[in-house]
Formats: sequence, C-alpha cells, structure tokens
Amino acid sequence: MKKIRNFCIIAHIDHGKSTLADRLLDATQTVTAREAQAQLLDSMDLERERGITIKSHAIQMEYKYKGEEYILNLIDTPGHVDFSYEVSRSIAACEGALLIVDAAQSIQAQTISNLYLALENDLEIIPVLNKVDLPSANPEEVSDDIVELLGCKLEDIIHASGKTGFGVDKILEAIVERVPAPKGNPDEPLQALIFDSVYNPFRGVEVIFRVINGQIKKGQKIKFMATDHEYFADEIGTLKLNQVAKQVISAGDVGYLISGIKEAKEVKVGDTITDAVVPTTNMISGFEDVKPMVFAGIYPVDTEDYEDLRSSMEKLQLNDASLVFQAESSAALGFGFRCGFLGMLHMEIIQERLEREFNMTVITTVPNVSYFAYTKKDPDTPMIVNNPSDLPEPSKLDRVEEPYIKATIITKSDFVGNVMSLCIEKRGVITNQTYLTPERVELNFDMPLAEIVFDFYDRLKTVSKGYASFDYHPIGMRTSKLVRLDVLLNAQPVDALSALIHESSAYHIGKKMCEKLKELIPRQQFDIPIQAAIGAKVIARETIKALRKDVTAKCYGGDISRKRKLLEKQKKGKKRMRQVGNVEIPQEAFMAVLKLN
Ligand code: GDP
Ligand code: MG
Repeated sequence: MKKIRNFCIIAHIDHGKSTLADRLLDATQTVTAREAQAQLLDSMDLERERGITIKSHAIQMEYKYKGEEYILNLIDTPGHVDFSYEVSRSIAACEGALLIVDAAQSIQAQTISNLYLALENDLEIIPVLNKVDLPSANPEEVSDDIVELLGCKLEDIIHASGKTGFGVDKILEAIVERVPAPKGNPDEPLQALIFDSVYNPFRGVEVIFRVINGQIKKGQKIKFMATDHEYFADEIGTLKLNQVAKQVISAGDVGYLISGIKEAKEVKVGDTITDAVVPTTNMISGFEDVKPMVFAGIYPVDTEDYEDLRSSMEKLQLNDASLVFQAESSAALGFGFRCGFLGMLHMEIIQERLEREFNMTVITTVPNVSYFAYTKKDPDTPMIVNNPSDLPEPSKLDRVEEPYIKATIITKSDFVGNVMSLCIEKRGVITNQTYLTPERVELNFDMPLAEIVFDFYDRLKTVSKGYASFDYHPIGMRTSKLVRLDVLLNAQPVDALSALIHESSAYHIGKKMCEKLKELIPRQQFDIPIQAAIGAKVIARETIKALRKDVTAKCYGGDISRKRKLLEKQKKGKKRMRQVGNVEIPQEAFMAVLKLN
C-alpha cells in the first residue's frame, strides 16, 4: 500500500494558496502542460474572475521520495470569512497544514485564525514564507514574526515563491517528512468524514470524504449519521484533476462518492458516513449546521418572473446548501423571497449566479442580520426577526437583541488611532490590545455583527491604507436600542427600504439616506418627495425635482449612433429597476443605506 499524507493549505486571503497549489500540481506532474491554467483548483468561473476561492477543493498527487511512493492529498481552502466553516471542515480531514505567509504582508488576521483552527485539530504546521521573489519582500523580519507566532525554529520555515516555483521541492519533502501518516485502522467499522460536496447537474451531489477508520467499497450500503439517510455507494474513487473510479478507499485516504443524491441539502459537511449494517458507534465530533448571518429579500424585476425565480432558487439550493430562502411578500415589491446568506460576499455570489446561470434579473433589498424581538406581552420568548418590517410596533415592543461578534484586527501601530475611531463609530468596545512587534498591533473589539457585515471592511481598508486585516467570531445576542427607520417615496412607505438602526444614529442616517436616494433615483415626470420616518415621525426630507427635458432631444437630427447608444444605455439602466407605485427605483437605491459614508 502506498503511504499517505493529507494536508491543507491555510493562509490569509491573497497570500498565495491557490498559486502555490498550482506549483505543487506541476511539480508532481498531476497536471499535464495542456491542462495547466492559473489557479487551477478554482474551477468555478466566478472564482476565476474574482480571483478568490469559494469552495474547498481536494486533489490527489503522487510523489516519489527516497524511493518510496507517496499519495499526497491536498485540500485547498477558501480564505474569505464567509466561508470559514469550509476551512474548519477541511482542516479536520488533514494531519498537516502548510501555513503560507506573504513575505511582504507578514502575519494577518486570518493567518492567525486559521492557524488556531489547525492547532485545535492537532495539525502539524509547516510554515512557508511565500512570495520571496517580490522586491518588497521582507524575509528576515517576516521570518521573525513567524517564529514568534509559532514558537518554531528559523530553519523550519521554508522560503518559497508560487510565482517562480522556488522552494516547491522543499515543501514536498517537508510534507512527507513532517506531516504524520494517517492513523486509522482499516479493519474497524467504516467511519468517514464528509468535508465537502460538489453539485454536478448530471451526476447529482458528489460527496468528498476522508476515511478515518475502516473501508468504503463500491456498492456498499452506507449511512449518513446526522441525517440518518441510507444510500448505496454507486461509485467511489479518488480525486485527480478528473475523478478516478476505484473499488475500495481505505482508512487514511480521501475520495469522492456518488450515490444518486439529488439535493445538496441531503449532504451535511461535517457529517459521518458509516456502514448501514455494521455502523460505527463514534460519530465524528464537531458537526454543526451552518447558520446564515445576513438576510435580504430577492425579488424579480418583472413580477411575472416570480415562479421562474422560485424554480431557479430551488435549483441553486440543490447546488449550494448554505443558501436558505422562504417566500415573502412586500407591499412595495410584491412576491419574492427572504434569503439567508453566510455573508455579503455569499449574497453577491448568489445574486450573480441567479443572473448568469438562470438568466434572472433580480432586485436585492437592504440586507440585515437576524434579530430577537421580545414583546411586552411575552418578554421571555424571542421572536426571530429576519426582516425589519416584521418588527412589532414600538408600543408593543419590550426589547430587541442583536448578534455580537468578537473582531480581531491586526494593523500597523500608525493606524491604531484610525482603526479605533472606526470601531467606536461602529459601536465597538475594545477588549484587548497587544503589540505583536513594535510596529504591529492586534486589537480586539466586541461589536454588533450588523455594523461589520456591510461596509466595515472597505472602511477599514481606507482608514488603514490597506494595512489592516480583519477576522471575526460570533459571541451571542445582546440587547440594543434599535429603531426601525422607514422610507416614504411620494408619501408611500417602501417596506423594502426599511432598516433597523441604532437609536443614536437614526437621525443622521435618516438624513443621509434621503440625500443618497435623491442622488440615486432618476428624475421622473413629477416631483418625488422622499421622507425618512421613525414610526409616525418624519425625521428627514428631500425632493427629487421633475424632469424637464427629453434626454434624447438634443440628438434629434444629429448623430444617430449616439442616440442609439444613449437609448441602449437607458435600457441597460432600466434592467435593474423596480416600479414602486409610480416611482421607478433602481437596484442601487435598495442598497443605499449601506453606502452612506
Ligand atoms: P489565495 O487567495 O491565497 O489563494 O492567493 P492566490 O494564489 O489567488 O494569489 C493572490 C495573488 O498573489 C495573485 O495575484 C497571485 O498571482 C499572486 N501571487 C501568488 N504567489 C505569488 C508569489 O510567490 N510571488 C508573487 N510575486 N506573486 C504571487
Ligand atoms: Mg485561492
């Protein structure tokens, strides 16, 4: 039997995980020159275009070292916080981790959070100082930072470049030498961890698993323990660039399973696969359902497309189990869906996939987090509020709780002041401040999730000139003084524009909101008053003046192609507009509350 090593690559975003993975695949000739392309494992178009990894990916390499044949299972992981659940599952399937640190950027927030995840799972950490080819690389100082963080020796750090391929041989050797071989026993009952699933429209859901103990055989009757569903292992195999069908996958190895599962929902990442007849008694620990963090309405631009939208969302959910949705109706927008997302990036991706893969044109409403509302009548039972318009009347409301997070920010000491002001503005309370080195500081804040899921990340980048990294973990619900800010257009309340806002900033935000909407909503044939209100009280007001001239008037008789261009531009702009009463509202207006700064 060949010797196995299972490892993952963890790092802060953009430190070069996917690029280094490409080099490892080249070096082990897993990929032929013809198949090679940059960021090979980011197989979704969206991942390529955005240059980010959304899904974890597993691939098997073969490597000969000192005359012995090894199987190296590489698990690439997504770096964005929205997908951190995937990182934690991938880590659980490995014995070792390459911890990649950018030689110019040094240790960042997710370097640390991913390292902690790896350490909690007892992984052997191989530190890799990457991008040493960069002129701005600072290998000595960054190596010191790594030694400080890990308590490792300077010699343990491998210098590498995913760009030039420098150091890749040393990394492969280190994987064999330092990552422990898997320990499982192939003779025990089957116990395999599901750490990923991929949706294939032709073959159904492909389950990616790591066998901890026992063996999985083609045709075997198996059971998923958390869902308690039984299936037959119709096809199993290992993951090269393409799948390679096998008869048996044994303890220690990674593979895929196809068993006619049609919906992503049936497969829970973190679940345990066992034999249906001789099951293991040990479910692998750490299984939890992924919870959506951000909610928003998705509505068809054309009300007639509601049923099409429903079937598109259902199909998308087959493919992305972390998407949740339920039908809702809005007085302003008609029928649509309230959807739950892992974060704002996930939300953007869903919207984009609906448009690209299903040809839908949709309007997304103001995103919000999930609140607990307690009524005076029943002050002990929380009512879950995922849509601001579901918040009970102020007179009936006892209190509102909102989700809080612990934020970790690493920045240069020059920017500590700026970062603190920003966090305080976002209702953060500082809980800790540690100098990692004289120039680098780690700050911890308790903050409302609502303040960080929206524009926080961009603001942080601006105030720190890009020298701040950020990570967060939920820490539970806390009571807050929140009010519902409503917006009226032409004296009609537009429920899809309502948002829950902290009392202290309601006036300021109401005013800004009116100004922003005035900018975003195109002028029409009549004056449109915009009002912001809390309950019955109007707190701000603006007016969009009526349009005077036909936009194409000045083109008549003139340049015909220019006129056509203008009309086309108008048509394009129209695509994402919704008629509410007699006012046309563009998509951006629904996001206005997020972009007030
Ligand atoms: P990931 O987010 O960790 O997967 O990072 P990527 O592999 O997508 O790389 C982020 C960016 O850094 C891309 O533009 C890469 O081309 C670039 N990059 C990655 N590795 C290196 C390297 O060793 N040297 C240089 N100069 N650039 C690199
Ligand atoms: Mg990547």
